[in-house]
Amino acid sequence: MAVFVGLDIGGTKIMVAAADREGNILRRARTATSTSLAEDLANINNMIAEVVGEVEIRGMGAAIGGPLDWERGIVSPLHQPDWRNVPLKAMMEEKWRCPFYVDVDTNVAAVGEYRWGGVSAGRFLYVTLSTGMGGGFLVDGKIYRGQNGAHPEVGHQSIHFRYSNQSAVRCECGAPDCLEALISGNGIRRIYGKPAEALSAEEWAEVAYNLGQGLRNMATFYAADVIRIGGGVAVGGGENFINAARQVMEEHLKLVPAPHVALSRLGYDTAMRGAIALALPVDIH
Ligand SMILES: [Zn+2]
Repeated sequence: MAVFVGLDIGGTKIMVAAADREGNILRRARTATSTSLAEDLANINNMIAEVVGEVEIRGMGAAIGGPLDWERGIVSPLHQPDWRNVPLKAMMEEKWRCPFYVDVDTNVAAVGEYRWGGVSAGRFLYVTLSTGMGGGFLVDGKIYRGQNGAHPEVGHQSIHFRYSNQSAVRCECGAPDCLEALISGNGIRRIYGKPAEALSAEEWAEVAYNLGQGLRNMATFYAADVIRIGGGVAVGGGENFINAARQVMEEHLKLVPAPHVALSRLGYDTAMRGAIALALPVDIH
């Protein structure tokens, strides 16, 4: 028997799982992300050895924050400052002697939701709303890429927003009025001085309005069939939050048909399931 390995390398935690060729997870491990690249790499290799055991590895897939060069597998995740120009693909293929694929975490999550979340839409947008915000767009199951492989950054669109505390709106990318600065976990902390789970109903309504305006733009540009939204803030806000945002989108969408908007069906496992999909022998790249 052989296994396929998925890695979800995030700014707060790193998860590793071994799966069979149908993508069923057999064993998993997780640890907190450190501030040291060497320590993180050692943890990743130890966890791979732990979940794989004595079995042959046929392929590996990884989700990590951008920016990165997905073809060469060189990564520089913005929120992990010690990880700069890390040739992750070359390092892992050398050590583990199997094909290794890596992509931006939101692209990978889109692949996971598409493959295991019951999506069959031709044009599918997945939006992650957690500490930060991003999206991955699939056309007929394949990742849409921009100029020179650039990843479209839907979190850094500017929107017409409503907030009582406008002076606290500040994006980590440096541009003004970014959607991510308004509705991500970090943005919510800056604006309201508390985490998303502590927001009042009125404050959730403001966040939903702003998400709805972002969805309106994304629906207008991509003319997607389906949009799924995952990540901790979306899961925390739940169906009411997503429904409120969808109403705002639908009210303002005049020329383009409204996509079907819903919460992710895979919860916190979307990127991990996508990483396993990258590892499996199917061409989705
Ligand atoms: Zn920004």
